[in-house]
Amino acid sequence: MHEAIVIGAGLSGLMGALALAEAGLRPLVLAKGHGATHWASGTIDLWGKDERSPRDALRSIVTARPEHPYALIGVDAVADALARFRAVTEAARYPYVGGMDHSVLLPTAAGALRPVALLPITMAAGDVRAGGEMVIAGFHELRDFYPPLAAANLAAQGIAARGVYLQLPPVPRVRDFGPRTLAQLFDDPAFRKQIGRQLRQQRGSATRIGLPAVLGVRDPLGVVADLQLLSGAQVFEIPTLPPSVPGIRLFNVLRAAIERSGGRLQIGSEVIRAEGVGHILTTLCSEAAAREQQHRVRRVLLATGGIAGGGIRTNDAGLVRETALDLPVRMDVNHAGWFAPRFLDPGGHAIYAAGVAADDRLRPLGVDGWPVYENVAVAGATLAGADTLRERSRTGVAIATGWAAGRMLAAYGCDATRSY
Ligand SMILES: Cc1cc2nc3c(=O)[nH]c(=O)nc-3n(C[C@H](O)[C@H](O)[C@H](O)COP(=O)(O)OP(=O)(O)OC[C@H]3O[C@@H](n4cnc5c(N)ncnc54)[C@H](O)[C@@H]3O)c2cc1C
Repeated sequence: MHEAIVIGAGLSGLMGALALAEAGLRPLVLAKGHGATHWASGTIDLWGKDERSPRDALRSIVTARPEHPYALIGVDAVADALARFRAVTEAARYPYVGGMDHSVLLPTAAGALRPVALLPITMAAGDVRAGGEMVIAGFHELRDFYPPLAAANLAAQGIAARGVYLQLPPVPRVRDFGPRTLAQLFDDPAFRKQIGRQLRQQRGSATRIGLPAVLGVRDPLGVVADLQLLSGAQVFEIPTLPPSVPGIRLFNVLRAAIERSGGRLQIGSEVIRAEGVGHILTTLCSEAAAREQQHRVRRVLLATGGIAGGGIRTNDAGLVRETALDLPVRMDVNHAGWFAPRFLDPGGHAIYAAGVAADDRLRPLGVDGWPVYENVAVAGATLAGADTLRERSRTGVAIATGWAAGRMLAAYGCDATRSY
């Protein structure tokens, strides 16, 4: 019998597993594959839809939109999650900076600007509001990162920037210089020494240099420090297209913290079915390598990533389905209304707000408005009630609800005087 199983290894599942592990429940994480960590930017976006600070936006959501995931758990629980997240990343020597009081504006690989609440310290010098001329540097060998394009777009927004290409030092024959390969090369001090020298030559009057986010897998802080010393400028990372090196680092940090506290991750296991007795879920069935496995369990955290993560599936007949536990999905419009006529429609696309409705303990609700299971909590992109894509709150919701759900599930069964 497992005390706790987490379904999904994205940010929400990992934060939930951490909370359960730190409560001594030795959670097992079952995931079909990696989560969006390996594709997304590695930043934590709490709110970016308008100019308000994340804290102000969240406070108003709590009163105006009670079904929103932030409202279900409350602003204090969001702050609690961020505090734990920051402490864990700091302890792993990969600290995140920022918080709820204001967003930082970071350049993207295309030279657009993106509001971010928490960011790895390796990206901090990229805050465009800090001022100072930038050089954006890259490699011809790295696809989808074009320094001249990024610099031109930044300059068009009034940010002094210049794009340069660096010469890739001779390296053993590699077929594909993707972000991961480059990051491994930066782990080598001799490689970064050669890059640092080129940066000094190219820097001119710039005070900071933006590079693709490939500055090492093992010790990014050490890589940034070396490059700063060699170039004489502040150095920062700009997220690349997938795979995401910052996201992979973050996954590694959270995984290590979970395992240190007694949890375990099993990637490559898809949960395909659940069985229960009344309102208690008792068994999960997973499938890996065409072999079915049954897991008796006391508590379950569903963190399967919604539509983008595979936790919710749709078909062309208009069916919307939750894939692991077969929970009811809240979808407020019919098939014809799923998408707005234009891709960047300011109203967003209704389909992205589809998800599992939950109560303030994040228990999944049935169509009658009562919890389907007492010992299940839902977190992250599988929750209904928010268009997190449009709000730019996807990672914020994932971290905050994952941690809150893990904490609440850990308390399940501890209070004999009332149902959880
Ligand atoms: C390319 C890309 C860029 C992004 N950029 C940003 C960004 O800049 N800012 C931002 O805020 N957000 C961004 N996001 C979105 C954000 O990363 C996610 O929305 C958020 O992290 C969701 O986390 P999650 O834990 O809910 O789900 P996910 O990270 O999607 O994880 C879902 C997990 O559930 C597993 N799973 C699904 N179904 C099952 C099943 N039946 N059985 C077992 N396991 C299952 C999956 O394998 C996965 O491990 C981006 C996403 C992508 C893909």
